[in-house]
Amino acid sequence: MLTQSDNDVRGTFYIVATPIGNLEDFTDRAKQTLHDVDYIAAEDTRHSKRLLNHFGIGTKLFALHDHNERDKASYIDSLLNEGKNVALISDAGTPLISDPGYHVVSFLRQQGHRIVPVPGASALITALCASGLPTDRFSFVGFLPAKSKSRRDEMSSWAPSLGTVVFYESTHRILDCLADLEAVWGEQVQVALARELTKTFETFLSGSVAEIRQILADDSNQTRGEFVMMVSLPAAEEDNTEALKVLKVLLKELPVKQAAALAAEITGEKKNALYKQALAMNEA
Ligand code: SAM
Repeated sequence: MLTQSDNDVRGTFYIVATPIGNLEDFTDRAKQTLHDVDYIAAEDTRHSKRLLNHFGIGTKLFALHDHNERDKASYIDSLLNEGKNVALISDAGTPLISDPGYHVVSFLRQQGHRIVPVPGASALITALCASGLPTDRFSFVGFLPAKSKSRRDEMSSWAPSLGTVVFYESTHRILDCLADLEAVWGEQVQVALARELTKTFETFLSGSVAEIRQILADDSNQTRGEFVMMVSLPAAEEDNTEALKVLKVLLKELPVKQAAALAAEITGEKKNALYKQALAMNEA
């Protein structure tokens, strides 16, 4: 495998973030890089041309999207070997984050090319940092499947250990997605919904999934635009079903205190917790 070296005469590949709505989020470094490189690989050249024209950037563009990514990886490799500098942009935000570019970056890394990220906006981080949900641990799962059955299957596979689950959602599916979330995780699961980030109608909603679903159902304006959904999964309840079965049997023959102590000894569960359960059972 080739490695980078200081006297490399080959070109550099830049991964450049563009705004997700507010053009003032386009960094000076990003604009300068896009101005200086020899080529820009863009997801949709017509879309990106409008942005680049606005900033007076006339660099040559070529298309790089999901369907031609593997072919373009070789093309970019040859450009870099000729000493040309190439930048990658997507329609909005950070390339590769639910956008094309992974195969290119992976291939170019294998070829030992110099790869430089030029950071900026991403809807994922922009939404999460202002959501009010835990940020110390989170899992980004991109876009969920379009069909409800597969979406529910995916949601069922989540576990609290993932931390806050973050995903992208479209205006067409947002209500169905909330309904699926409620069906799988219950109406009390806490969500935060970020809409139209950095744009005029930027909105954050947070509460139980049932509350958010109601807000969107009552006001169709709230279903418009682009969304980032964040879910805080409830902590798993301890499964002490076996201990409760034992406790129930013992309670038929023994006083509460003794039954709890014996059940704790047999099952390894905490005596205090079982004592409280035993009291509740007795009352019932
Ligand atoms: N690479 C981009 C990034 O770094 O955020 C994401 C690209 S992905 C194809 C587009 C999705 O990101 C949208 O469908 C939406 O879910 C989310 N998104 C992008 N811009 C957004 C914005 N301004 N507000 C809310 N969500 C946004």
